Amino acid sequence: MLPDTLISVATRALAGGRGITVLTGAGISAESGIPTFRGPEGYWQVGSRNYKPEDIGTLAMFRREPDEVWRWYLFRRTVCGKARPNRAHLALVALEQAFGDRFTLVTQNVDGLHERAGSGPGRTLHVHGSLDYMRCGEDCTPEIHAFPEGVGAYRRETELADADRALLVCPRCGALARPHVLWFDESYDEAHYRFDTALRVAAGTGLLITVGTSGATNLPNHVLNLVIRSGGKVIDVNVEPNLFGRMATVNGGFSLLGRSGEVLPALVDALVPLAGHG
Ligand code: NAD
Ligand code: ZN
Repeated sequence: MLPDTLISVATRALAGGRGITVLTGAGISAESGIPTFRGPEGYWQVGSRNYKPEDIGTLAMFRREPDEVWRWYLFRRTVCGKARPNRAHLALVALEQAFGDRFTLVTQNVDGLHERAGSGPGRTLHVHGSLDYMRCGEDCTPEIHAFPEGVGAYRRETELADADRALLVCPRCGALARPHVLWFDESYDEAHYRFDTALRVAAGTGLLITVGTSGATNLPNHVLNLVIRSGGKVIDVNVEPNLFGRMATVNGGFSLLGRSGEVLPALVDALVPLAGHG
């Protein structure tokens, strides 16, 4: 299934103890039953209007209709809570165990499946935040707080319950809390999203594996360009041809087409023996 030259390219890329970084997007969790943002599952209806994630996942919408935004996140949190990590998430845990401190996982996903599979919190950068946390909606402090216990399960049509709204408050000042996620009208930063750390890791990366991401967002593009500019190689895993796959191949890497639950375990099996070298 893997190209013949992959191991020799990966061996050279990792020479001198350079790092291995994996960048994941919504596609890695698709086989766990969590929809990506494309397709009808992404839409959200408010009254007679249909919203796309780019409309509803915004600070502007939270200021205007906080209850609607929370309902959407509570529905997504319920879907994620029922999902189980798949073979791709588990393969990355094996890769982390083999490469230790040369390994970094940069994830755009907010679903918590990497942690539940066993990825180490110290080696995982949540560059878009996580549904397992919330923070003050008024920014009284930058602290993040664990998601409160006792919030109910939500379906698409569930209205926000008063009892849940009362739980979704900042423990410091009592203002309505917000999900700890990077919204479409906000910018990356180090304090909440480890932006600088992700770029520093990228600059020292010999081999970057991108998985299930359409390449539409800003930081992933930055990471990929930094890796390529510093002489690293990229392996892209996706069910369809995409920007990252093209950039990988143009720069001497690979575009592996297939489901991440099938491709990643095979790729990780091939890469683990390289961990002792370099
Ligand atoms: P995206 O929805 O833009 O793209 C998903 C990509 O995954 C596509 O390129 C698609 O071809 C690919 N894909 C689908 N199924 C796959 C499979 N089985 N194996 C391999 N590839 C597969 O996702 P994105 O690039 O991550 O950007 C969307 C934004 O929305 C990100 O911020 C993301 O974190 C967020 N989001 C997160 C979740 C989650 O946490 N699970 C779900 C939806 C969206
Ligand atoms: Zn507060």
